[in-house]
Amino acid sequence: MASRSPGTNAPVALILGDQLSPDNPALVRALSEGGSALMIEAPGESTRTWSHKARIVMFLSAMRHFAQSLEAQSVPLDYISLEDEPQQPALAARLAGYLRRKLPSAVLLTEPGDWRISREIARACSECAITLEVLPDPHFLVTTRDFARWAADRRTLRMEHFYRHVRRDTGILMEGDEPVGGRWNFDAENRKGFGPAGPAGIGAARRFEPDTVTREVIALVARAFPDHPGSLESFAWPVTRAAAVAALEDFVATRLAAFGPHQDAMWTGEPFLAHSLLSAALNLKLLDPREVIAAALQAYRDGLAPLQSVEGFVRQVLGWREFIRGVYWLDMPGLAGANHFGHHRPLPAWFWTGDTHMNCLRSAIGQTLTHGYAHHIQRLMVIGNFSLLAGLEPGRVSDWFLAIYVDAVEWVELPNTIGMALYADGGRFTSKPYVASGAYTDRMSNYCKGCRYSVRDRSGPRACPITLLYWNFLVVHEQSFLSNPRTRLMARNLSRLDAEARRTLRRAADRTLESLDTL
Ligand code: FAD
Ligand code: SF4
Repeated sequence: MASRSPGTNAPVALILGDQLSPDNPALVRALSEGGSALMIEAPGESTRTWSHKARIVMFLSAMRHFAQSLEAQSVPLDYISLEDEPQQPALAARLAGYLRRKLPSAVLLTEPGDWRISREIARACSECAITLEVLPDPHFLVTTRDFARWAADRRTLRMEHFYRHVRRDTGILMEGDEPVGGRWNFDAENRKGFGPAGPAGIGAARRFEPDTVTREVIALVARAFPDHPGSLESFAWPVTRAAAVAALEDFVATRLAAFGPHQDAMWTGEPFLAHSLLSAALNLKLLDPREVIAAALQAYRDGLAPLQSVEGFVRQVLGWREFIRGVYWLDMPGLAGANHFGHHRPLPAWFWTGDTHMNCLRSAIGQTLTHGYAHHIQRLMVIGNFSLLAGLEPGRVSDWFLAIYVDAVEWVELPNTIGMALYADGGRFTSKPYVASGAYTDRMSNYCKGCRYSVRDRSGPRACPITLLYWNFLVVHEQSFLSNPRTRLMARNLSRLDAEARRTLRRAADRTLESLDTL
């Protein structure tokens, strides 16, 4: 794309692919000082983790649309595109090359969402002797400093405590000092399966058919990353601010009311259910969390959605999203290498194809490869649960989660994977490992009905691998489960197994663990 920068002695705002807000503070500052904007497509960011094609398209298309909107406003912009400098695939190398050519007075950068990238950018600027100024990211309601202050005097970090603190602080869903409706959460009502009839009455999510820019990016990605996982055929994600706003309106009008009760439920052939599908738009900063929360609150006031759904949704955006980001910046870089259980098994090959006989994993991974999307419980209690029970190496699992979802950015992916799904941080912010037998999947979905395995069996040729590995996990970690009040009951179930039953179980689990690729 054309270079329109004003040249030396003015600052340049580096706009990363997940910073696509016109209010980006680095952009606003650079323009107020007569500077320019810089955007860089770096193939190295797509190959470092072997990214899903749809994730690459999501970022590149959103970046190109954002660049177009800047150009329409005559913002001076330098744009380095994917194919511009084939010998320099890495973001930092492309940045350094640019800085040496253009010699801006300073690089202005809004806080990145990735610890590694923030370090690489700092190094590139320092090597080129260009000042780097990092500005706070106003996208989040809670700053990293305020989160650190909140966390400082606590022995344990719990989302529920943080969420109540933020609700009190912001007045969101509050009546004076009390939560609206007299309760802080509706979890008890919000964990229902669908029952045998399956989901009914949930509006279909709006699709955003690719425009010319997106179609060009799809062709480019298919050409440049032909062996990467995932499909591009059903790409229909919002990649502009206008489309993201339309996606928010669509969610509030058609699915928010149904969001609460069944937010944990899953169903074959129903990849989206009542979920908002807003995570990628939020993470790329096409949407502001405040407007997302405001839209949900307005729907409640207008009587369009019940409190249990609105609170359930607000909890995700105001609670979990802000909390997870705080944990990331508090615990990096140690979080990335955490491996509490010392697990080192590689991922089975079917993580990249969905080609497994386990219907739950085939469904969750299959829709992930098709759409770059799975909802929270599919990520946590199907794929994450299997990964933990099978002793997969946390770093490799995290790389997979970072590669495979259209909404994946490290600040949100890593704590969810390492902390929430794998307990690899030893329970820094979760009170117990989230492990479950196949019975949970059976309760929350219809996956077990169409499965080669039998969900209740933990022995025999049709033994459900999830159930078998769950019991094996309990045996292996019996003492620590007994010493934790939150898991004691689970471990007490083991008293039904005598020594011989335990040995048989361990042998069957070992055989399963040795043949993960063929499950
Ligand atoms: P909805 O169910 O409609 O929820 C509304 C919004 O709440 C989401 O858009 C999201 O912004 C926020 N939210 C919900 N749960 C969480 C959470 N646990 N952490 C942070 N925000 C949350 N989310 C990402 O955005 N990017 C990731 O890379 C990512 N990786 C994950 C990996 C694992 C192992 C797990 C268990 C969860 C991960 N999540 C991630 C969180 C969550 O699964 C997704 O945000 C959600 O599924 C996105 O779909 P949705 O927009 O339809 O969400
Ligand atoms: Fe998954 Fe086991 Fe159910 Fe099959 S039977 S879908 S493997 S939980």
